[in-house]
Order: sequence, then C-alpha cells, then structure tokens
Amino acid sequence: MGTPSDKKLINENGLRLDGRGDEELRPIKISTDILERADGSAFMEWGGNKILVAVYGPREAYPKHTQDIEKSVVKARYNMAAFSVDERKRPGPDRRSTEISKVISEALSAAVMVEQFPRTQIDVFIEVIQADAGTRIASLTAASVALASAGIPMRDMVVGCSAGKVEDRIVLDLSKDEDNFGQADLPMAVLSKNKQVVLIQMDGDLSKEEFARATDMIMKATDRIAEIQRKALSEKYKIENLSESQNG
Ligand code: UDP
Repeated sequence: MGTPSDKKLINENGLRLDGRGDEELRPIKISTDILERADGSAFMEWGGNKILVAVYGPREAYPKHTQDIEKSVVKARYNMAAFSVDERKRPGPDRRSTEISKVISEALSAAVMVEQFPRTQIDVFIEVIQADAGTRIASLTAASVALASAGIPMRDMVVGCSAGKVEDRIVLDLSKDEDNFGQADLPMAVLSKNKQVVLIQMDGDLSKEEFARATDMIMKATDRIAEIQRKALSEKYKIENLSESQNG
C-alpha cells in the first residue's frame, strides 16, 4: 500500500474513480498464439495492464542439477519493462520480480501435470509491457492460457483476481490508484474447477469479516475470468479445426 493520503477513491455517487461498482472487474481480453517461435503464447489486457507470455517446453532441464527425476520443473520469469510504469523501472531482476516469479511458478506447478515429464523444465516468460496494478494475478491468468495453448497437459486452469479495501469498503480488482492509496490488497489465484487456492498474498490489514468478504468476491469473479480464458482457447481451437478441415 502507498503512503496514506487524502485522495478520494470513491466519488459522490458511491462509485470508484473509474466508474466501477464494488464488484466490477476492469475489462479483460486474452488472445493466444501471438508469437511464432514459442510453443505457446498469450497476450492479456486487463484494465491498463498489457502482458505478453511465451511458453517453451517441456524440454530437458538445464543446468542438469535443476532436474527433478520425478517431475517437470515450471520456471516462470516475471519481468517488468523499464517503460511499463510511470517512473522508469530499473531493468533487470529485483526482489519484487524474483518473489513474483516464485509464487507464479508454484501456482502453475499445481495445475500442470508435471509428473508426466520428469527431468524437464517448462519455461514461462512473462513480460509486463504496461503495468496498472494486479500484474501478478493477470500474469498468472495469462500464463495458464499460454500453457494450455502450448498443448501442455494440465489438470485445471489457474485463474487469479485481487480484492482490497478502499475507504473502508471491500472492492474487487484494485486499480492503480486504489492499490497505491487504499488500505489493503489481496491477490489470490485458484484452480478454476475445484477452487483450490494456489496463490494468496496480502498487503495491508483486513478484519476476519473483511477477509471473508474479499475472498468471496474473488471466488465469484474467478468464474467470470475463467470464462474469458475458455473463450480465448476455444477461439484458437476453432481456428485450428477450421484450417485442418480446409487442408484435409
Ligand atoms: N509498480 C510500479 N513500479 C514498480 C513496481 C510496481 O509503478 O517498480 C506499480 C505497477 O503498476 C504495479 C503496481 O505498482 O502493477 C502494484 O504493484 P504490486 O507490487 O502490488 O504488484 P501487482 O499488483 O502488480 O501484482
């Protein structure tokens, strides 16, 4: 959370600064197969976030000591472009991107059938080219689509969303101002079918009741976001089936 401020985050009509109600998501768009040289890829726009994901693998894990004889190792690398934020970000890894890469790798590992590909690695390169709050859950949601578009066997999709507290109200999907000047931010991700939680972090404070309300809002929103993921993938397979039937 940013420094406390007098900035108003709820307007006189009880709406948020961008006109959204408490449980409204920002617009989300996902497309697949953006990159020719990746095994799978996705491009996600979520509010002002623009995120590109490229997936490679499963391929032999290298260096060899990183191999797991029982399963594939999912290696996500989250990177924010220097020009992705208002104040230029120093290029290269830092503590934040290392942490985000780790939590995303762990969340994706829960969805991928890693036990089918021992000694391999699956690389997930995440490039945030424009950041507008909520990039870790947007990246994870897009990465899941990119993995599926690479044809990597998965038990389920990972779908993420955040909720938080602004002016003592629990609201869904924080915007940049709400993230900076609000009271709490709770990014969370689940497996879309059985709702197993695969990522949960919290910045700021929430009471037990507020936490329950925030997680409830997120759970409901994940169904809507999972539908957008499904649409992106069904577009891909519709197009592939069409070209197969035209060729055959
Ligand atoms: N941000 C920034 N500069 C940085 C890191 C983050 O301006 O070096 C902004 C960016 O818009 C990001 C937001 O702060 O989306 C919130 O960052 P946070 O660490 O909470 O992660 P996120 O919400 O993106 O998962």
